[in-house]
Amino acid sequence: MVENTQITKTISLEDYGINNAKVHYQLSPKKLHDKTIEMGQGQDTAFGALAVNTGEFTGRSPKDRFIVEDAITKDKVWWGNINIPFDAKKFDLLYNKVVAYLGGKEIFARDAYACADEEYRLNIRIINEYPWSNMFSYNMFLRPNEFELENFKEDWLVVNAPGFKANPKVDGTRQENFAILNFSKKIVLIGGTGYTGEIKKGIFSALNFILPVDKNTLPMHCSANVGEEGDTAIFFGLSGTGKTTLSADPDRRLIGDDEHGWTPENTIFNFEGGCYAKVINLSEENEPDIYNAIKPGAILENVVMDKAGNVDFADTSITQNTRVSYPIDHIHNIQEPSVGTNPKNIFFLTADAFGVLPPISKLTPGQAAYHFISGYTAKVAGTEEGVEEPLPSFSACFGAPFMPLHPTNYAEMLSKKMKEAHVNVWLVNTGWTGGPYGIGNRMKLKYTRAMISAALQGKLEKVNFDTHKIFGLQMPTECNNVPSEILNPKNTWKDQAAYDLKAGQLSSFFTENFKKFEAYANKEIMNGAPK
Ligand code: ATP
Ligand code: MN
Repeated sequence: MVENTQITKTISLEDYGINNAKVHYQLSPKKLHDKTIEMGQGQDTAFGALAVNTGEFTGRSPKDRFIVEDAITKDKVWWGNINIPFDAKKFDLLYNKVVAYLGGKEIFARDAYACADEEYRLNIRIINEYPWSNMFSYNMFLRPNEFELENFKEDWLVVNAPGFKANPKVDGTRQENFAILNFSKKIVLIGGTGYTGEIKKGIFSALNFILPVDKNTLPMHCSANVGEEGDTAIFFGLSGTGKTTLSADPDRRLIGDDEHGWTPENTIFNFEGGCYAKVINLSEENEPDIYNAIKPGAILENVVMDKAGNVDFADTSITQNTRVSYPIDHIHNIQEPSVGTNPKNIFFLTADAFGVLPPISKLTPGQAAYHFISGYTAKVAGTEEGVEEPLPSFSACFGAPFMPLHPTNYAEMLSKKMKEAHVNVWLVNTGWTGGPYGIGNRMKLKYTRAMISAALQGKLEKVNFDTHKIFGLQMPTECNNVPSEILNPKNTWKDQAAYDLKAGQLSSFFTENFKKFEAYANKEIMNGAPK
């Protein structure tokens, strides 16, 4: 953990309307860790990492994520229940309230940036009410050097006030918490929630507008790593499908675990400077890289531990979404800077709780576009009340909550880039096998890893493929270190007729969901749809 950084610079927050604050600027992670403990907002763990509780919110609140409707966004944003419009005047009033609230307090400010490629760099000033949120900002954004700090001018501002509660009746919010993007003022305003993920996803959402609109660059909700030969792989997937887990591969250098851009210069770059991994049921045996990244400097969120600070990763009594954030260099094998060339392989990760999709299959360009626009995964219902039906979840571009533009903008860019780069595209089901959730089991991590390794090493080029009857997917019939019988999901089900029924059911969910996109899809894409 960085102990003492000789920052002599000080900043005032009066220009932002935050008056008489005691400003802690650019504190080292060590100081922020200690400050958090001192203020009674966190605890030491046996790992030496800090543990905090984020409060009422232990996940993002998508229904409270707004975009200010203004000259920049009005005609470009895909408005609806994902991108909810917010009145510009109301924003100004709410901003004034938030900064008034922060006035007179101890405040933690930090300058950082997003985008590891110099050309695309976005300077960010983050103003946090709490020290651990500021330490999260240190972990997750890129860290400017001393020289860069001297002349720092922010492009965007994040104001993060978890303790501030809005009054929905007058402030224009839905409830007391909110995360609002203002593209004219270049501000992300967060209040009423301490969930740190809102900070990183706020900037991600901003970049998902800025990069395609201004820089002809495709922003992606994906992880990325690179092999010995410089071959880049990227992994798209919704939350919990395995982006972070599978990109941490001891044989490949990590570029990033969540957010990347694909440039017209045929490069891929990470937006971030750190990782934010799920730690539910984390074990050193299954996920050594992530486990060993939990050391001083890391922040565990919403975990349960004993008096001696030993963390019980199986305890989900606070939330299933327990997390750890750490600077990317907590992972040993990383690419520096976090930039790669055009990907050779793209993986779409899905956690199919219906147990229908093959554990790995190869996609045609049409299927790739279809599955990208669909963005399928499944949500498993709460386990407390016993086994319940899993729910299909479709999120366009594998990240709709963060995409201000219509999904087809991103899909068209991706299709074009995939064709130009001659990428192999694979659909990987990290979800259930042997039956649906409740009957089957989650695919063994070691098998998923083996299938991905085989694909990356070109070992699936020469094998035979079977075609899935309903989804039309190409399923390899053999794969190193994976039992062949699990490669065709139907084989793993005891009841074959039940499989066909479930597969039919899932395909109709796909069809139903895709209706709203049909008008935008060409024949090639529609040929990628299930039968
Ligand atoms: P987010 O966008 O929320 O960060 P993510 O895509 O990065 O999500 P991970 O953090 O990688 O998701 O979570 C995947 C979870 O599923 C981990 O807890 C991992 O241990 C577990 N898991 C179980 N089986 C598998 C498998 N076969 N492949 C991948 N992950 C698996
Ligand atoms: Mn992740």
